[in-house]
Amino acid sequence: MTGRENHMAYLEGMEAIDSDLMEKVSALVETYDYQQVTGADVQRALRQERLSIKDYAAILSPAATDYLEEMAAKAAAATRRHFGNSIQMFTPLYIANYCENHCVYCGFNCHNRINRGKLTLTEIEAELKAIAATGLKEILLLTGESRHQSGVNYIGEAVKCAARYFSTVGIEIYPLNSDEYEYLHACGTDFVCVYQETYNTDKYEQVHLRGPKRIYPYRFHAQERALRGGMRGVAFGALLGLGDFRKDAFAVGLHAYFLQQKYPHAEISFSTPRLRPFINNAENNSNDVHERQLLQVMLAYRLFMPFAGITISTRERAGFRDHVIGMAATKISAGVSVGVGGHTAEEKGDEQFEIADPRSVVEVHQMILGRGLQPVYTDYVRV
Ligand code: SF4
Repeated sequence: MTGRENHMAYLEGMEAIDSDLMEKVSALVETYDYQQVTGADVQRALRQERLSIKDYAAILSPAATDYLEEMAAKAAAATRRHFGNSIQMFTPLYIANYCENHCVYCGFNCHNRINRGKLTLTEIEAELKAIAATGLKEILLLTGESRHQSGVNYIGEAVKCAARYFSTVGIEIYPLNSDEYEYLHACGTDFVCVYQETYNTDKYEQVHLRGPKRIYPYRFHAQERALRGGMRGVAFGALLGLGDFRKDAFAVGLHAYFLQQKYPHAEISFSTPRLRPFINNAENNSNDVHERQLLQVMLAYRLFMPFAGITISTRERAGFRDHVIGMAATKISAGVSVGVGGHTAEEKGDEQFEIADPRSVVEVHQMILGRGLQPVYTDYVRV
């Protein structure tokens, strides 16, 4: 790729599926003017049992920031109704950090001089064993986005190994065609995380300068291809602060909502990453998405899609994570290392971003209990 490709046109080898989701989401996001929302609109939205798209737009607006307490109470009740007391625990494992993309906001980008590495299958197994020894039963494997360095077969072997130690295996890798998702599902993958970063296509083009990720529609349709490939679950997210976070959060919710309508069996979940500093770019931080705004987004996701999972990552500080579990979040990471490997020996590659909550599995477990909630290690049994 030269870096000048039309970001809306598929490249050779990229599967184009017949789906109108992108157009549906774009049309609604384009007309979303959150400045027009009034307090009365927010109050009406909060009186509804099930929120409409218009209600969802209202609770994501600046006017809704005066109603965060009401939103929190309603969200906590919805979380309790659909998830009980349970908080799912997991940890991510970076098995590689090679990347072919130039995303201007990320420390793994192909122009950033960092230590790159990739675990061998023996090293992956050692990492998995060490993590499994902490009691965790769910793992998320991450690679960075390099099809050349971390091919689908390499990921498939890593998944097969992970499935021997964990009851749930997720992957956060580069987007694939549906037959490749089918292969990784057969290897033991349960769910796929793909974050669109921003749904503003102009902004998307500006921050994705080079690499396959530059192609917006191929990324947008990744979750649908994953479901067609047989995956049980898919996760959505925007990198809040990269574009207009209210519009991006609105788009994330709509993307998930329309996909859920089309694939009712799909297990949907949300992540809420914000920009974080990274190696060689310590200043990279979101100026406008503070914890209050982040909380608003999480509450809005919960109220709009009450049955969807919400994950809170170690990008956020411990106090905030503890506060949102049970209220909106249903899944929390623990014992996290965001370098390549790091659970058994020295990390083999640098970290993608700085973590704000270094607590161990035991510490997070105790915190969950202390909040009157139930740490859950597995809610799925392989047969
Ligand atoms: S955000 Fe993902 S694709 Fe972009 S540079 Fe980082 S690891 Fe690579």
